[in-house]
Amino acid sequence: MSKKTVRDINVTGKKVLVRCDFNVPQDENGNITDTRRIVGALPTIKYLIENNAKVILCSHLGRPKGEVKKEFSLAPVQKELSKQLGIEVKLADDIVGESAKTLTNNMKDGEVVLLENVRFDKREEQNDPEFSKELASLAEIYVNDAFGTAHRAHSSTAGVADYLPAVSGFLIEKEIKFLGDALNNPERPFVAILGGKKVSDKISVINNLLEKVDTLIIGGGMSYTFLKAKGLSVGNSICEDDKIDLAKELMQKAKDRNVEFLLPVDVTLGKEYDKDTESKIVKVDQIEDGWEGLDIGTETVKKYSEVLRTAKTVMWNGPLGVFEFDKFAKGTNAIAKVLGELDATTVIGGGDSAAAVEKAGLADKMTHISTGGGASLEYLEGKILPGIACLQDK
Ligand code: ADP
Ligand code: MG
Repeated sequence: MSKKTVRDINVTGKKVLVRCDFNVPQDENGNITDTRRIVGALPTIKYLIENNAKVILCSHLGRPKGEVKKEFSLAPVQKELSKQLGIEVKLADDIVGESAKTLTNNMKDGEVVLLENVRFDKREEQNDPEFSKELASLAEIYVNDAFGTAHRAHSSTAGVADYLPAVSGFLIEKEIKFLGDALNNPERPFVAILGGKKVSDKISVINNLLEKVDTLIIGGGMSYTFLKAKGLSVGNSICEDDKIDLAKELMQKAKDRNVEFLLPVDVTLGKEYDKDTESKIVKVDQIEDGWEGLDIGTETVKKYSEVLRTAKTVMWNGPLGVFEFDKFAKGTNAIAKVLGELDATTVIGGGDSAAAVEKAGLADKMTHISTGGGASLEYLEGKILPGIACLQDK
């Protein structure tokens, strides 16, 4: 089911409350070190300005835990936004107090006001109905464009939609389109690549994807629990002994559903968990004690690449090795490169996966890189995200 967007509602002359993700990283002097989240929010904000709405922006920043703390003020965001938009964005001193009321009461069409950090009020994270109502009373329409917090039911991400007509901005529209279409309406063959550290982090993702994909490719630390479940020795590799039965069940589920389930055939071992450690590539039945699997091997890269070249949709979550160390980033980089060359829809979900693809310089070669770490994982788990569920259906 698709959701209404700002295009599906008349915003002219209306006060529109937009929940953005302005949770930007800052250095010790409060300078923003990465403006991508602000730049990402601009299309929705510009659309509203061009359509003569009165634009009221809100966001959280960091974890002030319900208290007003100067270091979590949105003042740096106000400055950057004013610069990017080329107009003066006004910053309220509070969220729903006198300052916010005065500023939003006196807006002209096309003006922009930014409220202070919504997490300065502890009622935000409690999704307190009174707080949601007070927020809603500032505006006539609610737009959610913060995918990164869409898995949280807070006042500014979901609660406020109880009191206002609610639609999505362009960022959430894009996330729903690419994550949603890939999962629910994929062009086949549909191949998912799952990696990362632990099976236990990804049980629900694997379970959900097994019901959708034609092939499931496994890499990363979670491989070793599966390999051990198949009776192999894994040395010092990360392995969850209490998840071995579960690993067996998941492999059985793949078999029952006719899903091709691929595990590494060789791996790159390290002597220690260290960027300069001694390393070697061995077949998966040759992992010795005293060594730790930190990446997939070259044979595995070759095998996985062949499968991926037949895919029409690829969903990737979780690096295939310890990509933070160059020595063990080769598998992840090689697979990212193959994805970049495919004539297929390629969707990347998960914070570290997105970072890995960016580090490899291949971000613009992918169809879509989800901006929400936790939110994209919950989406892959098949969960309903409160920040999306609260929006009007088309
Ligand atoms: P995402 O954030 O994309 O969902 P995860 O958080 O699940 O991904 O996994 C990323 C982490 O998994 C990385 O920090 C990476 O170093 C780690 N990892 C991948 N392969 C291994 C391995 N073989 N051993 C230990 N850690 C691994
Ligand atoms: Mg992660």
